[in-house]
Amino acid sequence: MASLFSELICQTCGHAMPPDLGTSLCERCESAELEAHYATDQLAPDWARQVRERDADLWRYEELLPIRLPPEARVTMREGWTPLVRAENLQGDLGLRQLFIKDERQSPTGSFKDRQGALTINALRERGIEECVLASTGNKAAAYAAYCARAGIRLWIFLTSMVPNEKLRELALYGAEVIKLAGTYDQAKNVARDFADRRKLYFDGGIHAIPGREGLKTIAFELAEQLGRYLPLENGRWRAPDWYLQAVSGGIGPIAVHHGFAQLHALGLIDRIPRLGIIQVEGCAPMVRAWEVNADQAEPVIPRTRIAVLATGDPGRGYQMLREACLMHGGTMQSINDGEAFRAMRRLARIEGYSVEPAAAVAFAGLEKMAQAGLIQPDEVVVVNCSGHTFPAEKHILEDQYVLDLQLGEASEETSAPIHVQEGLGAALERLDEQVTTIAVIDDNPQDSRLIRRLLQTYKNYRVFEANSALDGLDLVKHRKPDLVVTDLTMPEMDGFDLLQALKSDPETADVPVIVISAKTLSASDEARLLEAESVWQKGNFNTRQLVDHVVKTLGADPEGKGEVLMTTSGAVAEGLKNALESVNRTRVLVIDDNRRDARLVKRVLEASQRYTVYEAYSAGEVSDALEEVAPHLVILDLMLPDIESGSLLVDWLREATQDAHLPIVVMTAKSLSEAEQRFLSERHIPVWQKAQLDRQALVHHVDLLLQNRDASREEA
Ligand SMILES: [Zn+2]
Repeated sequence: MASLFSELICQTCGHAMPPDLGTSLCERCESAELEAHYATDQLAPDWARQVRERDADLWRYEELLPIRLPPEARVTMREGWTPLVRAENLQGDLGLRQLFIKDERQSPTGSFKDRQGALTINALRERGIEECVLASTGNKAAAYAAYCARAGIRLWIFLTSMVPNEKLRELALYGAEVIKLAGTYDQAKNVARDFADRRKLYFDGGIHAIPGREGLKTIAFELAEQLGRYLPLENGRWRAPDWYLQAVSGGIGPIAVHHGFAQLHALGLIDRIPRLGIIQVEGCAPMVRAWEVNADQAEPVIPRTRIAVLATGDPGRGYQMLREACLMHGGTMQSINDGEAFRAMRRLARIEGYSVEPAAAVAFAGLEKMAQAGLIQPDEVVVVNCSGHTFPAEKHILEDQYVLDLQLGEASEETSAPIHVQEGLGAALERLDEQVTTIAVIDDNPQDSRLIRRLLQTYKNYRVFEANSALDGLDLVKHRKPDLVVTDLTMPEMDGFDLLQALKSDPETADVPVIVISAKTLSASDEARLLEAESVWQKGNFNTRQLVDHVVKTLGADPEGKGEVLMTTSGAVAEGLKNALESVNRTRVLVIDDNRRDARLVKRVLEASQRYTVYEAYSAGEVSDALEEVAPHLVILDLMLPDIESGSLLVDWLREATQDAHLPIVVMTAKSLSEAEQRFLSERHIPVWQKAQLDRQALVHHVDLLLQNRDASREEA
């Protein structure tokens, strides 16, 4: 049986759309709240019994999942079907009789987010997406990083500095690009979204992303099936608990689980939809605060908790969805403090043998509170989601620079970083790719191309693109401009010989080195046709380490020196970003002078101060391009330029072109000015420096002063 995913329904206006996971907004009303629907009338009448015979992972419910890849094409680590265990000791202590723990620690990366990661990454694979961006409070990042590694998808993760270093190292270990921001999670999310937008990359949309939510709903399916075995009902039906408890951050977990139960209820498989126990930690409990005063929207808060994975200060729609679920089917939202969570953590370990992460302990502390308050009746069936445990990756595994640390300013009452910081960051992020070495692997056998990709990525931090035919390969090379091509020889339609010829005869691609890996035994005439290849390797007959060394060597000879920034982890990217960001944050000075030696001198002197980045233009004609590229904070202008009658003309034009009436301009000249020129400049408050009288110190001092004055006059204005 395959997926019965049949349409997307808009939850706002009811509009039905084709079952395309690339759709993120309703085509009629632009609402982001879409839901996957399934042709459940085609579900076998004894589906629940059939499922029982299937493999122990979440794909046992494949008919009701939105992924249409056949099993052999899926990215999976057999996620799901985690144990449901009765908490014999704890239930006695709390005066309960039917307490169960859903042990999501036993997931591939140790948390329930693997369900979300697995479905999302399979959806990306289905759509041929090879790069994605994510902001996370921790666990989701680990899950996505692992599945992306398995799928060969490049992942960018933006995290806050609250996330412990062990977690960051785990992510880097999976090969993800990790960017740590000193700010709140909501800030990190904004920066990540902006980064994805600029590069037109897939950004994981959290609660509105269908694959992730559909993956998480399998918790409900498993609970109903598993409880059906513990507490059988008539006719082999499944059984829902009376209460489902989970600690929440953004809320996607319980939202999805509630949705899963509702689906089973609609199918007649269970007789009730459980009440939700939504537990938050007091230092970050915007949902609970809103629930307590019956508000229909949660006010964002600045998280003040040591439990990083729960620190979503702005739950947005998540609160409303959970509130609706609680109002419709019963439920409550409760908060507990960090201390209560840590006590619950110790207690669970001592009496049940469960070592859990602090976020999971929050749910158990909430359970304790609810049981004591009499919210839960002794005979009610209660399930607590034991959402995960952490995997400490030890320090020595990675090189020092596995993460890039960015300061967005202190977490303040404002939820977004100052605009100029975000702009600088955006610009820096945009330039990143210049630092990453890319390789195109072309082979009609996908297994071979994947193998070569793996090989290259295991040893070096290359960005590898694959194509499975020479024609696609040609497109890929033209489009991506890789630093190196690795190609197979025998391919249908167009073979490797023709590909090599096509690449070498096009001036745009002629310089890209091509390494040939061939399964074919080469004749003398074959070899003659491969003279322009960098090297030729025989498939199945070479030492993999030698190939990698050869690739490294070939790239190392790259005239632009890109090969030099290779490191085994995200170091290359981190380094590039840091440089880009540093230069973005410096003050930009444009020097316009046809005397290149003078321009260089100004550049050297100012840049030595570490405060300025200096750009040069050598004629009036170059100025307009330079302005656009540089957006200077200060212009130093020579009045004698070859292509314009008088440099004075440039002055008014500069201020107009930059739309900045306060743009500081300085005239630097070797000649003495006419009276008219002097009057013209002094009317515009433009100082004149005589080149002969300017020494290094004076230059830096004058520039510093000018920029201070500019800031002062801006403030007045
Ligand atoms: Zn709609």
